[in-house]
Amino acid sequence: MNIMTTRTEAAPHADAVQVPFVDLKAQYLSIREEINEAIEKVLHSAQFVNGKWVEEFEQEFARYLGVPYVVGVGSGTAALELALKTAGIGAGDEVIVPANTFFATAEAVSNVGATPVFADVDPQSFHLDAVYTEARITPRTRAVIPVHLFGRAMDLRNLEEIAERHGLTIIEDAAQAHGVFHGKTKIGASGRLTCFSFYPGKNLGAYGDAGAVACSQASHFETLRLLRDHGSPSKYQHSLVGTNSRMDAIQAAVLSVKLRHLDRWNALRVEHAGHLRRGLAATSIIPPEAPLKGEHNFHLFVVRSKSRDDLCKFLAQRNISSGIHYPVPLHLTKAYQALGYPGHGTLPVSEKLASEILSLPMYPELSHSQVAYLLEALLDFSSSGREPR
Ligand SMILES: *Cc1c(COP(=O)(O)O)cnc(C)c1O
Repeated sequence: MNIMTTRTEAAPHADAVQVPFVDLKAQYLSIREEINEAIEKVLHSAQFVNGKWVEEFEQEFARYLGVPYVVGVGSGTAALELALKTAGIGAGDEVIVPANTFFATAEAVSNVGATPVFADVDPQSFHLDAVYTEARITPRTRAVIPVHLFGRAMDLRNLEEIAERHGLTIIEDAAQAHGVFHGKTKIGASGRLTCFSFYPGKNLGAYGDAGAVACSQASHFETLRLLRDHGSPSKYQHSLVGTNSRMDAIQAAVLSVKLRHLDRWNALRVEHAGHLRRGLAATSIIPPEAPLKGEHNFHLFVVRSKSRDDLCKFLAQRNISSGIHYPVPLHLTKAYQALGYPGHGTLPVSEKLASEILSLPMYPELSHSQVAYLLEALLDFSSSGREPR
């Protein structure tokens, strides 16, 4: 399936297999007819933003999640921004977010005029730590955004108890957690404002940017629908100041097709992850914890290694791509220097993780030989003695 590029510097296994970090083309080819037909229908209807294709997808995704309402928007970042606005968060407010997440979780807070406050994470689950969170609460704190990071469902019970005691709103960042259960219900079915991204590389990815907010309150649903379309209940009527963050109809049509395959694709990721996890059990490379059934979609498969940079290079020599999610904890990013965090040592768990984590290739289309090849490389690295135990 993958065409080898000619290399001047032959790596030991260069002619065997290569494992790219993602392979969106392989997935497209596997559903090409369905996708092309869906896009053609949109083109013929000439309804390009919002409208019936978007409404259809919203209803399908709401049914899939088990929640009354879904509002399609322009991106996952916009979903977070509009959810914050819907919850009434704005200037002067503080919102607690984990330091180890994608930048957009914090950026959305800044973009509604509020201040993100970074809290440390749990070293095993990588999720926002409830104890650290409570320590960051001030009289200005209005909300907290837990992230179901890497597609693993976060257990929100401790956070709910804290939020209740301090009168905080919880907005869930489920940008990586499509089709994941916590207990008997899916992430997105809690009734809280829950934000999804359909960025192409996500488990449910569009062929461009798109996002959605799930919720159970009719008033939230109405506000979100207004906010995404210039606060406009009907043409040239504006009942509040919103923005343009409508969903593209072509993206909605693509998502409707892909939603039908999501559970199967997630199951394949879980299968690959199980294989890798078991293979790594006796090595110095620490795999992600075994998930409870249904509680992880392995959007990313993140291992930890004391020699992370060497491991990354070792894999690259064998044509295996890897990534770091995320290399700089948010309190240390240049963009947030103005918030005045003292630097290294402030949020030790997030900082340590940033130096040890490595995301390995993980997608449904990985072949058995690619998974075996990847595991062999990891075992070779582990037994090469480069990895301190
Ligand atoms: C992808 C992502 C976002 C942003 O979504 P976009 O669609 O790229 O705007 C927000 N939070 C997390 C955790 C993400 O992974």
